[in-house]
Amino acid sequence: MFIKIGPGPSSSHTIGPMKAAFHFRNLLLKLTQKKVNKATHFKILLYGSLSATGKGHGIERAVVSGLMGWQPADCKISEFLKIFKDKKSFYNIDINGTNIPLDYSSFDFGEIHHLFPYVNTMILQLKNREKVILEREYYSVGGGFIEYKGEPKKNIITPRYPYRNMNSLKKILKEKNMDLIDMLIENEMAISKLSKKDIFYKLSNILNVMIDAVDRGLNKKGVLPGPIKLHRKANVLYKKRDEKKNVFSKVFISLSAYALAASEENAAGDIVVTAPTSGAAGVIPALVYLLKNDFEIKEEQLIKGLITAAMIAFIAKRNASISGAEVGCQGEIGIATSMGAAFLSQVYGYDVDVIECAAEIALEHLLGLTCDPIKGYVQIPCIERNAIASNISYNAYVLASNYDIKKQKISFDQVIDVMLKTGRDICLKYKETSKGGLALCELKR
Ligand code: SF4
Repeated sequence: MFIKIGPGPSSSHTIGPMKAAFHFRNLLLKLTQKKVNKATHFKILLYGSLSATGKGHGIERAVVSGLMGWQPADCKISEFLKIFKDKKSFYNIDINGTNIPLDYSSFDFGEIHHLFPYVNTMILQLKNREKVILEREYYSVGGGFIEYKGEPKKNIITPRYPYRNMNSLKKILKEKNMDLIDMLIENEMAISKLSKKDIFYKLSNILNVMIDAVDRGLNKKGVLPGPIKLHRKANVLYKKRDEKKNVFSKVFISLSAYALAASEENAAGDIVVTAPTSGAAGVIPALVYLLKNDFEIKEEQLIKGLITAAMIAFIAKRNASISGAEVGCQGEIGIATSMGAAFLSQVYGYDVDVIECAAEIALEHLLGLTCDPIKGYVQIPCIERNAIASNISYNAYVLASNYDIKKQKISFDQVIDVMLKTGRDICLKYKETSKGGLALCELKR
């Protein structure tokens, strides 16, 4: 499922490295005691945008927590946020009773341009002085997913109705005369081996985490962590929604405040839901919160919307990318916006043609969007971009649900293909390296 729970601020730089470190820990636990006893220290080598902006995304904290055996979905956020609060912090990682030290000097920030097969690469090493006892090369491929060098071909669990893009999905629906949501649920049941009831239970939990993130964000004030000293804005904006002058903008103000709230929580490193990434963790939660609290839409409808949104993320990852380091922000906020438009169309009961059209419109106007976070922090432009994106999702849904969609000239699959090609053409400095674009702007005091 392309919607996951984990700590902010980045799925590629926080959740992915945490999962890689957790995986590495499990390898260490299988080493002989003789080998573990020889270990003197860890070395963590970071490349690509993990090197360029890893510090701003708290990558050190993510690696330590993974090595300690923590997983993104169930890590205790108050404990997580204490890690590396102090520059002099050091940790003893317990591997079968042997303590192996780790501190800031364990991290090497390597080249941004490199020859590894994936842009966000990290090598984890257990060492005995200069000698490597165990090493593994991991790739953080976006949305919190990881792969590693030499990974055996997974036992692929085939969904009941395999599809690779929107076109093949629609073909199946036509041939089987099926409803989209029934097909997606049957696929999820086949992959997860869960019952429909359990899938709904899991997604209900995810909805609650989204709603919690918005609630927390709406109630907090002050400055976000990091050197930018960016003030939280969700609380202030939310209070303005009932002012007389805002009577026509109330929905947009609410939606924007909800998106800011969840994104500010992400920037603070708190628990959010990646949809499809943590940088874009405000878009779907804002729509969910609006529909639940302002329009009283039932949970079952929201869950069906989430399942549909996840289908959009799957197609994007399968045929292009959802990683800012690979294709720029069009793959993160662009896809989140598409997911949001599809989510709304499903919640309001439209068929797959309208869902496709809404998703296509949403992404079409965000093609070429670069990723250039200031000082490497998921704050500017990321937080406000989530607010704008949630409004675009709504707008795309409104257009699609009122158009004569049979007259649409561009398909969702075509836009995904253009996103990939555009992403390849975007130069590296605009792909989560903070070496170009807005990242070069001098900030007002
Ligand atoms: S600019 Fe977009 S892709 Fe880049 S870190 Fe921010 S939200 Fe993620």
